[in-house]
Amino acid sequence: VYAGRRPLIAGNWKMNLTHLEAIGLVQKVAFGLKEPELEAAEVVVVPPFTAIRSVQTLVQGDKIEIGFGGQDLSVADSGAYTGEVSGAQLKALACTYVVVGHSERRALHAETDEVVATKVRKALEHDLVPILCVGEGLDVRKAGEHVPYTTAQVDAALEGLDAATVAGIVIAYEPVWAIGTGEVATPEDAQEVCGAIRARLAERFGPETADVVRILYGGSVKAGNTAGILAGPDVDGALVGGASLDADEFVSICRTA
Ligand code: PGA
Repeated sequence: VYAGRRPLIAGNWKMNLTHLEAIGLVQKVAFGLKEPELEAAEVVVVPPFTAIRSVQTLVQGDKIEIGFGGQDLSVADSGAYTGEVSGAQLKALACTYVVVGHSERRALHAETDEVVATKVRKALEHDLVPILCVGEGLDVRKAGEHVPYTTAQVDAALEGLDAATVAGIVIAYEPVWAIGTGEVATPEDAQEVCGAIRARLAERFGPETADVVRILYGGSVKAGNTAGILAGPDVDGALVGGASLDADEFVSICRTA
């Protein structure tokens, strides 16, 4: 964490919780966090689509300083796309963020770099902040290719965007081997790749832009390893999966930030 960038902790709930359970969790998280903590770090939850409306009603009704967003969006705006949800629909629910290119979408739904790039554009078109996920698998890591692999994913997703636009997006470095495995990257691993991503942004979009982009780490983040991970000067927060489903654990991660 570097003082010029406000840390961001985002809880990716994945396909967990009914809308009723979602309300309970947001209430507990909001109760657990004090105002100065919510000012120091930005806290965001990313519920499944079925729970976004309930989270919106609660957050707006009780004026809770927690943001929310979607886990994915369609490459299309409307029409015959059974099962898809558009950026416009997310925006209408007052979402601020949308996760794009999560490794589970890349792996299970065959999302290519081109699809991810289109989704980044769609998010921006609908005034949603994309949380662009990148990260290498174990084979790439073992081959020592994690930096070029990950920076190439960033290049592909941001191709053709101007610096002012890039300044507003969030990038999450999530090594696939660390997601849901309990095997967290070391603080040095997280800093190495987050720093390399920032250096690449500086090359392509200029140092002022690279300076303001928030780069998160994700993959088995827990309360106990947050401080170490966030110690890296280029690590501006965390995208938290499993641990974001437990109110106490998530609150303590947010407090650490
Ligand atoms: P995890 O997931 O924290 O459960 O490893 C992180 C993510 O996939 O965003």
